[in-house]
Amino acid sequence: MTHIFANWKMYLNFSESMILANQLATESYDTEKIHLGIFPSSLAFTEVEKLYRDTEVAVGAQNVAWTPKGAYTGAVSAHMFRNAGATYALVGHSERRHVFGETNEDVKKKFDACLDAGLIPILCIGETKEDLEAGKREYRLKKQLMSVLEGVSKDATFFVAYEPVWAIGTGEACDHLQAAEIHDSIKKELNTYTVQPIPVLYGGSVNHENVVFYLPHQSIDGFLIGSASADRDHLISLLNAVVAA
Ligand code: PEP
Repeated sequence: MTHIFANWKMYLNFSESMILANQLATESYDTEKIHLGIFPSSLAFTEVEKLYRDTEVAVGAQNVAWTPKGAYTGAVSAHMFRNAGATYALVGHSERRHVFGETNEDVKKKFDACLDAGLIPILCIGETKEDLEAGKREYRLKKQLMSVLEGVSKDATFFVAYEPVWAIGTGEACDHLQAAEIHDSIKKELNTYTVQPIPVLYGGSVNHENVVFYLPHQSIDGFLIGSASADRDHLISLLNAVVAA
């Protein structure tokens, strides 16, 4: 089973989100092979969730606030998303870390809030180009894992997404052999924190052409996909490529 998680970011307005969600709802793909998750904007969330309720398609939040309720103008909490039908939530996405200045401490609070609310957090981790050039990739990934997972129950259910910052939205995907090796080391590191098998997704410029190179690797459980997931033709080609592989 390959997880294909579509992060629509802020690419689609409400009408565009509903057009794409409706188009996807009419497509058939092999649900034995693919587990599809859609992460629409907060604005489109409830309508997309309604459309996919009681189907194989999961719907998730792109971002959550950690306090369940209160005077937090503009925020939507993990608990509110859970109440509205979300299964998953992204936490620590590189755009949240680097554009909105979220720290590892913020990511931990969001991760813990998701578990508390009954959402499955997808913990996004990844090194920057500077980390890579300074030989600090392993250090960065371990630190991002440790700062969130220390103290978390060993049987907690969550995902990790390895998303090198330099590969997101750049067209410069991480080589599949390298990605597989990093996934192996992430999984080894995860053994310190959990007794559960934790799916590890790869993200960063995945498209319908390069996805097939990652598929044979056991340590790659699926993909978090940005721009290629916000376009019907690209996403359908990608699903078809995964089914055909
Ligand atoms: C992402 O936003 O998680 C992502 C991987 O984006 P893209 O596929 O556009 O690189």
